[in-house]
Amino acid sequence: MPLFEFYCERCEKKYEELCSSEQNTLQCPDCGKEAKKVFSLFRTGGPAGGGTASSGCGG
Ligand SMILES: [Zn+2]
Repeated sequence: MPLFEFYCERCEKKYEELCSSEQNTLQCPDCGKEAKKVFSLFRTGGPAGGGTASSGCGG
């Protein structure tokens, strides 16, 4: 099972738990409140378009 991060607003803490992807909430081990799943944003750097220097047209 994958590892997901859960965030408890009450404790303002993050918890890592192994659970199924269907589970969107987790009971906080500290306060017992519902902790929400945190979606980690992992983005790969896309290809940056480089400007090509164009030569001026001759008359
Ligand atoms: Zn909590």
